[in-house]
Amino acid sequence: MTITPFRGDSPPPRRPVPRLSVVIPCHNEAAVVATTHRRLVAVLEGAGLEFEVVYVDDGSRDETLECLERIAAADPRARVIELSRNFGQQAAMSAGLAETTGDAVVLIDADLQDPPEVIPEMVAMWRDGADVAYGRRRSRDGETRFKLLTAALFHRLLSRAVPHPIPVDTGDFKLLDRAVVDTIVALPERRRYLRTMVAWTGFRHEAVWYDRHARAAGTTNYSPLKLARLAGDALVLSSDLPMRMTWVLVGGLVTVATVAAVTAATAPPGPPGVAALLAVAAGVAAAPTAAVALVGEYVVRTYREAQHRPAWIVRRRIGLGLGAARGGPPRSAAA
Ligand code: UDP
Ligand code: MG
Repeated sequence: MTITPFRGDSPPPRRPVPRLSVVIPCHNEAAVVATTHRRLVAVLEGAGLEFEVVYVDDGSRDETLECLERIAAADPRARVIELSRNFGQQAAMSAGLAETTGDAVVLIDADLQDPPEVIPEMVAMWRDGADVAYGRRRSRDGETRFKLLTAALFHRLLSRAVPHPIPVDTGDFKLLDRAVVDTIVALPERRRYLRTMVAWTGFRHEAVWYDRHARAAGTTNYSPLKLARLAGDALVLSSDLPMRMTWVLVGGLVTVATVAAVTAATAPPGPPGVAALLAVAAGVAAAPTAAVALVGEYVVRTYREAQHRPAWIVRRRIGLGLGAARGGPPRSAAA
């Protein structure tokens, strides 16, 4: 046996070319999935990768499922995981992750807003040692000013509220090493917000800058109300800060009320300031109510977790993808 002496200056060996899984959550994407598959396959074949594409149909009400069935019938590398109803994008992505077997997994939206052409760059970063290669948006086409502003504010608020570093201007488009995927799949929580969960796992994260495009076809699944709900969910699921803010809220209102009361009591002669007193009473009444409502957001989520219901239900699986090679040469021999 020969022992190679340790050389601190030599770079670690590159990881081998991965068997890649791509996970695509789909809700009402009939207008675009065929185009998406074609473009994705061209990129991945061009990069010389062995791959599977795991489409998760998240309770679509249009012809998405039929389109996906046609794709899987024509291409054995495509798999379809049909959920029993609409569980939401976070659950759909988690369902897809749980089905993958690749050495690395890419999460990407169905609508080609995230260009598949960036994936080879992510793979190269992974081969050079990154465990998470996340897409960071240099620009965003086809979004309203309102969405751009609220998204930028939200990303910055979230990165301050969460105790571990969260990259800003980043969505779900990223490549994850198998170890990160296994860690996330094994986490027992039901309500999931993957961006903060991935950050929480630690490991080595590297950014790949890219330009985000407008949707290739179809319409967004997120109304401003749904987006606001998702933002609230992300904050409450990932951070204790909102609950801790109740102290600031109660303290602030009580201070304002006290100052107002003292001012009213020491006011120059005349009838006592009824309006001022009413404002004080309203403030004092509102503070605990707001605090209880805020704590309630956490209680509701705790209750839901305690119910132990699954976060998604699979109705049907189509295709084998990378699993088709099972029974053939073992993975280590193929690598
Ligand atoms: N999506 C999903 N389930 C949902 C909503 C969305 O699987 O309940 C998918 C959708 O098909 C797309 C991705 O999540 O692949 C992002 O959704 P969308 O493009 O509508 O959001 P936007 O990019 O406008 O924020
Ligand atoms: Mg989109």
